[in-house]
Amino acid sequence: MIKVDRRTLMVGAAAVGVYATVKSTYVSAQAAAGPFTLAPLPYAPNKNEPHIDTMTMEIHHGRHHALFVNNLNGAAKDNAELFKKPIQELIGNLNSVPENLRTLVRNSGGGHANHTMFWQIMGGSGGEPSGAIADAIKSDLGGFEKMQGDFNARGVAVFGSGWVFVASDKGGKLSLVSKGGQDNPLMDGLMPIFGNDVWEHAYYLKYQNRRADYLKSWWNVVDWAKVNERYAAAKSGKFTI
Ligand code: MN
Repeated sequence: MIKVDRRTLMVGAAAVGVYATVKSTYVSAQAAAGPFTLAPLPYAPNKNEPHIDTMTMEIHHGRHHALFVNNLNGAAKDNAELFKKPIQELIGNLNSVPENLRTLVRNSGGGHANHTMFWQIMGGSGGEPSGAIADAIKSDLGGFEKMQGDFNARGVAVFGSGWVFVASDKGGKLSLVSKGGQDNPLMDGLMPIFGNDVWEHAYYLKYQNRRADYLKSWWNVVDWAKVNERYAAAKSGKFTI
């Protein structure tokens, strides 16, 4: 079993936080001033234990997600007009972003949208969904158990780093989508209702290379009420990220 000690992690974290102020061990890096903000986790970082460990939650939110926000704010300094647009507009129409900023918007804008969704839809107690999302999973994705199996298989099949999502079109029709890097279904005109992060940083401390185990365990922390809120927003034209 691979052991990662605390000091090794801190050295890595410090290297990432080039323009971040380290306040304490795992507390969020201070965000650079700008139009984008890192919202605090909507629950305590130990809320998803034992399925997602506290240290992973803290580093993932306070370092990885923070870096995307800082990158966006850094770019916004010299491109204030462009970055007045909300993220969904920027990543939903990448061709309208000037070429020299397109990769940054794709990676950091996608990363910001992906992780904002991710924190929202966790912190729950898993189990089976109810309400509109349950009905749509039944009619569009073959039912809950089939969807879970297909979702997990898609997550395992992502080569390297990426995401697996259930996305909705404007009419509420669901589909399974997997993406590499920090790409997001909004880039294809679809809305990510829920999704799981299969980058190694999302699971390596607890699961090491066992991504399939992580995918299976993750369902225990999904907050289906939040998923239903996102689905309702998608169907009523109020979806953001
Ligand atoms: Mn991540």
